[in-house]
Amino acid sequence: MGRVAVVTGGTRGIGEAISVALKNAGYKVAAVYGGDAAKAKAFTEKTGIPAYQIDVSNFKQCQDGVAKITADLGPVDVLVNNAGITRDGTLHKMTPEQWQAVIDTNLSSCFNMCRSVIDSMRARDFGRIVNIGSINGQAGQYGQVNYAAAKSGIHGFTKALAQEGAAKGITVNAIAPGYIDTDMVRAVPPQVLEKIVAKIPVGRLGQASEIARGVLFLVADEGGFVTGSTLSINGGQHMY
Ligand code: NDP
Repeated sequence: MGRVAVVTGGTRGIGEAISVALKNAGYKVAAVYGGDAAKAKAFTEKTGIPAYQIDVSNFKQCQDGVAKITADLGPVDVLVNNAGITRDGTLHKMTPEQWQAVIDTNLSSCFNMCRSVIDSMRARDFGRIVNIGSINGQAGQYGQVNYAAAKSGIHGFTKALAQEGAAKGITVNAIAPGYIDTDMVRAVPPQVLEKIVAKIPVGRLGQASEIARGVLFLVADEGGFVTGSTLSINGGQHMY
């Protein structure tokens, strides 16, 4: 098939599982990372998937990076906006830097990357975009006004761009993961994590591969009628 897929934050955590699943399904994958070059190198050696260093919060780097990927692999058919960070703190202690870093990396990145691929998708009447939101963008979370605002913004962004892409064969969907066993969640203090897991009906953290399955479903060529939707994959945590 040979469709070209770009996965931001694609060299570790949830993104790594998405990159590998797409490769195994026959896609030509480019995995984007931010700063962890050692992890990216190990990822490429292990998987054979090329890694590209692009700061997704920087519009120019996204434009240049997508141009390089296009030159190397071909025009981008599938974009998975997965890169994300946390800079937690209650609002009364949060600095403007904590706020801005999360908004830039988690939300403006979607604009930066989508803007860099959209002309080519429109010209070819085909595109699949998946934005990784979060249960905390749907429900909020103590100590995360920055993260919840950015992820909530992703869900609105997704529905708006889905309307623009619909007549051009471009679908835009979001996945809202619950708590998944990655570095991001392992950074949560154990006593807090215990309380979080106690609230997950299936009784455990999710696996990155369980998010990757959702991505494969949404980006399939046959998925043209699924657009503007949010797929919640969270162990039954947010059923109300
Ligand atoms: P990780 O912390 O394990 O990985 C984050 C990835 O994002 C890394 O590959 C990192 O690159 C990349 N990244 C961070 N900043 C930038 C940047 N400025 N430019 C390019 N890449 C960047 O995160 P997870 O795998 O846990 O999370 C992936 C996504 O899923 C995030 O958007 C997160 O918010 C979301 N999510 C995660 C949940 C979870 O429970 N884990 C729950 C709900 C949502 P590098 O390796 O170079 O640092």
